[in-house]
Amino acid sequence: MAETTYDAVIIGSGVIGSSITYELGRRRLRTLTVDRHSGAGLGSTSFSSAIVRFTYSTYPGVAMSYEGLRYWENWADHVQSSDAADLTKFRQCGMVTLKTIGGHHLKVVPHFDSIGVRYENWDLEAFQTHLPELDLRKFGPPKRPDDDEFWDEPSEFLEGGLFTPEAGYVSDPQLAAQNLHKAAGTLGCDFRFNTEVTSIQRDEERVVGVRLNDGSAISAPIVVNAAGPHSRVINEMAGAMDDMSIHTTPLRQEVHHVPGPDALDFENRGFSIADDDNGIYVRPDVGDNILVGSTEPDCDPLHWVDPDHQGQIDLDQWEAQVLRLNRRLPTVGIPHQKRGIVGVYDVSDDWIPIYDRTCIDGFYVAIGTSGNQFKNAAIAGYCMSELIDAVESGHDHDSDPVSVTGPHTGLNIDMGNFRRTRTINPDSSMSVHG
Ligand SMILES: Cc1cc2nc3c(=O)[nH]c(=O)nc-3n(C[C@H](O)[C@H](O)[C@H](O)COP(=O)(O)OP(=O)(O)OC[C@H]3O[C@@H](n4cnc5c(N)ncnc54)[C@H](O)[C@@H]3O)c2cc1C
Repeated sequence: MAETTYDAVIIGSGVIGSSITYELGRRRLRTLTVDRHSGAGLGSTSFSSAIVRFTYSTYPGVAMSYEGLRYWENWADHVQSSDAADLTKFRQCGMVTLKTIGGHHLKVVPHFDSIGVRYENWDLEAFQTHLPELDLRKFGPPKRPDDDEFWDEPSEFLEGGLFTPEAGYVSDPQLAAQNLHKAAGTLGCDFRFNTEVTSIQRDEERVVGVRLNDGSAISAPIVVNAAGPHSRVINEMAGAMDDMSIHTTPLRQEVHHVPGPDALDFENRGFSIADDDNGIYVRPDVGDNILVGSTEPDCDPLHWVDPDHQGQIDLDQWEAQVLRLNRRLPTVGIPHQKRGIVGVYDVSDDWIPIYDRTCIDGFYVAIGTSGNQFKNAAIAGYCMSELIDAVESGHDHDSDPVSVTGPHTGLNIDMGNFRRTRTINPDSSMSVHG
């Protein structure tokens, strides 16, 4: 007969929930992870661009992502598998952040310097060596193609770029979650797929378990909300919103896939590009595709949606992103086929995640990942397990935030920065940059 009592229940088996499960399993907790989908990583994780970069606006953001990098570099060790064919791949292609006047790179560099993140300042000449096909004229501020100014031929050039050679991307984000699921399963962690959590059971101030859509009840003194875009639904279900000053809301997001011309060989010669001047991010992909996503420029409307939102590609948005890509990389051209994905971000009010306990004892959240936490999944799982361990051992995280030491880098990650009760972080980019 299926077990009905666990040490912890994790709601969601995306890359974040699977990682938390694995880390709690390593601490010998008996865990059950429940997901509505038929397997791990089939929610918003499956649509991720999976870019691994360190260009966050805050020190903890940079520290966490730099620690996160080491997990991707040592993925086989992390998930304790020697079967390379079954593992997702980390491709270290590097990333350049194009420099705009007063731009994002200015927030990032002081943190890079204090943490020791490797970077190079590229002037226009350096770009000639690395990718002369890039048109480095200043097109910004970003516009939509139906604005006549979109087609202006500017004479000014950008200042250059900030290149981080250790950045890259993960070839298959869904497989990354499945790798974590398998690793957790090896430790004895239980998973129930095609199953929905329909209520959170409480006893006064403490969580005592969950109820599932098949009518069964699971008892557990710890419940973790890792429900991605459904995070707010689960928080409301639990009645955990009372002292939250930061909230989460699902946001529609499109990423388009454009075939790269053979001569460009972007898969091998290219690198990821953060292009705020044009309102896009770009990355190479296997099979010589180029991915182009949005950095939420002011001219593009934000579409706040239902967490179950699915949809077709919006032709206007496809045109905007693909034409912006073509302004920067004119050799790409406009494909006939309009390919891409429609995903959903779980956006917090300041685009920084909430990794925290809640006002209900035993109920924890790893939410508000705001389109930028795939890269941090492994370290987020570790940080959540440290936080849960400390709080369950009696530590008052609300008045004395838990500080985590990154196992690979020794960097300090102050979990107070990810609290539900924070005021909006004024250092945030208020965009996918975090
Ligand atoms: C288009 C797109 C591009 C992105 N690009 C990047 C990037 O380049 N780099 C980066 O670092 N990050 C990126 N991200 C962000 C990153 O992918 C997410 O932060 C991460 O995948 C979120 O994982 P998760 O496990 O929290 O959520 P999900 O993967 O959505 O998992 C949540 C799970 O909870 C389950 N669930 C929900 N409610 C219930 C319930 N009641 N009962 C049972 N199960 C439930 C769902 O079925 C789902 O599987 C991107 C995201 C998107 C959408």
